[in-house]
Amino acid sequence: MTKLYPWLLPQFNQMQALTSKGQLAHALVLTGAAGIGKDMLANALAALLLCKNRQPDGACDTCKSCLLRLAGNHADLLVLQTETQHIGVDAIRQLNQFTYGAAQQQGYKVVIIPAADTMTEAAANALLKTLEEPPAGCFIILVSSNYSQLSATIRSRCQQWQLHAGSEAMLSEWLKTQSNTPLPPFLLDYCQGAPLKALGMLKNEQAGSLTEMIALLDDYFSGKLQLAALVKQLDGKAELSGMLGFYLRQRLAQPVDFLRQQAVLTAYQRWCRDATRIIGQNSALALTGLLTELKPLLQHQETKWKS
Ligand SMILES: [Zn+2]
Repeated sequence: MTKLYPWLLPQFNQMQALTSKGQLAHALVLTGAAGIGKDMLANALAALLLCKNRQPDGACDTCKSCLLRLAGNHADLLVLQTETQHIGVDAIRQLNQFTYGAAQQQGYKVVIIPAADTMTEAAANALLKTLEEPPAGCFIILVSSNYSQLSATIRSRCQQWQLHAGSEAMLSEWLKTQSNTPLPPFLLDYCQGAPLKALGMLKNEQAGSLTEMIALLDDYFSGKLQLAALVKQLDGKAELSGMLGFYLRQRLAQPVDFLRQQAVLTAYQRWCRDATRIIGQNSALALTGLLTELKPLLQHQETKWKS
């Protein structure tokens, strides 16, 4: 089978043990940060459940059921596809229909609902009954990066599996084997520990661009770079608001008084709000205003990556 990311193995092994004892919950929700590998784990679990010749490390990939699945042609596996930004009630009705009736391969039936938190209210309601009484032999695997956005009624009917990335040391090691680019010290924090997101950023050079942005901000706050030069470099950069918010929180992680902290965050939040609300706003001017306001508040704060 596809080799699972190393940090997913403990939970996969647990799922496997429960499956072999017939104790796996029929409705599960896999949660965790974006880029942690939830889809991979959902697929591996689906493969395991459908396989007719389970191996110690998962599905065999050679039985008839595995071959059908690998060909994308397994009648007892439904991965909800949605063309739109939301999962609508029609998709759930189709799911409900799928779950009834016997499995064609005389095994389990498995449904995967990716981005389950995008279900509309009507869709969530349509799913409830099936979650309450899942037809025998049917497993429903929900996947969500925003667990709190799933309705409480859905949450209460699914067993939650919160995915965690491994230790920082293990992830750094893994990232080194996957990418030839050196790992910036802030990247895993920035990605909330999600290794796949970090890997994506290393590969598409976003990580390098963020490293530059951090260095520029450091130079500005320590007085080595003029405001106009900083604004010229930063204005219009992709990920600017996310990166700036991250940067400010890191600076504020140092001992800092409460009022100063409030002042920094208020200024930042106002800037973010204005960017979306004021149509035709001069972005360079707005950024200049923000950075001018932050300078006296932050010039004596150090980021944690400083040696
Ligand atoms: Zn198999």
